[in-house]
Amino acid sequence: MAAMRVTVVGCAGTFPGPDSPASCYLLEAEGFRLVLDLGNGALGTLQRFAGLFSIDAICLSHLHADHCVDLGAYWVARQYTPDGPRPPIGVHGPRGTAERVTEFGGEGLAAVQARFTFRDLEPGTTEIGPFRVTADHVNHPVETFGFRVEHAGWRLAYSGDTGESDALVRLAEGADLLLCEASLLDRPHNPPNLHLTARQAAEHAARAGVGQLLLTHLVPWNDRDLTLAEASQAYRGPLSLATSGLVLGPGAPLGAPPAAGPGAPPPAGR
Ligand SMILES: [Zn+2]
Repeated sequence: MAAMRVTVVGCAGTFPGPDSPASCYLLEAEGFRLVLDLGNGALGTLQRFAGLFSIDAICLSHLHADHCVDLGAYWVARQYTPDGPRPPIGVHGPRGTAERVTEFGGEGLAAVQARFTFRDLEPGTTEIGPFRVTADHVNHPVETFGFRVEHAGWRLAYSGDTGESDALVRLAEGADLLLCEASLLDRPHNPPNLHLTARQAAEHAARAGVGQLLLTHLVPWNDRDLTLAEASQAYRGPLSLATSGLVLGPGAPLGAPPAAGPGAPPPAGR
């Protein structure tokens, strides 16, 4: 697989919805699979698109449960497979990620660290498999990172959870696709420095000059049509709402007919 392929596994914000788990995105290129966030319910749906043990690395934007709680379930899967425990894979997250996963049901820190190699995220650029990943702090009550992921000249930006953020605009500058949270609708008393409204997400996309905008972290109690309508007032490029199973990438732009099938079939025997 030469070009990057982005699969929306989970796009529900704050808690899972009837049609989608919480935040999770599968990035694939050159046979390498990187998972961005692993929120409530995501481990189940992820298996529709990738073999359970075919994941090569995981990147967590922050440690709120709707972005990372299924890493506890994934620890159980990697620990107790009938063939014996699986070798550790890299988990890139904020400081304290290992301790957080231990809270989710791991059997102590050492046991969790035996299945995952934790690396503290810092602002800056690192290589994860074939991907060039740039992280920066965004605007949320706990330490939270947004990401820019580049491969073969194609650029994805992901907001994580954030209120209004110049760092997000920098990460998304000229990106081919911005995957941006839109947790809120325009209301008079939205809390500051927490989440973006759909309109604010669109304003960030316009400022960054992105090629396409996919709104995500969609809270199930919000009206989807209203979310799209409010965003469309501030961003004139290709714009859509995320759905679980949506596949995007250099060969699959927003608005293209859906690709055949539910995504890549899981590799045999894994
Ligand atoms: Zn959050």
